[in-house]
Amino acid sequence: MAYFYINRNAQEDGYHEVHNDNNNCSHPPLTENRVRLGIYNTCSEAIAAARKANPGLLIDGCYYCTNCNTR
Ligand SMILES: [Zn+2]
Repeated sequence: MAYFYINRNAQEDGYHEVHNDNNNCSHPPLTENRVRLGIYNTCSEAIAAARKANPGLLIDGCYYCTNCNTR
C-alpha cells in the first residue's frame, strides 16, 4: 500500500504524472501542485482511478518513482 498523488500540471508532452509518495521521488512536483489520489496497492490502480476521475486528462506513472509507465 502506498500513497499516490498526481501533478496538477502536465509535462511538456501533455501527460500528468502519478507519483508514489512512499518512494521519495527524485523528480517530484512542487507541493502545491500535488493533488491527492489516495492509498492504493499498485501504481496501476492509482492511475486507473485517476483516469476515471479525470476522463479528459492524459495520465501515466512517473518514470522515477513508479514502476508503471502505462502510456
Ligand atoms: Zn515521481
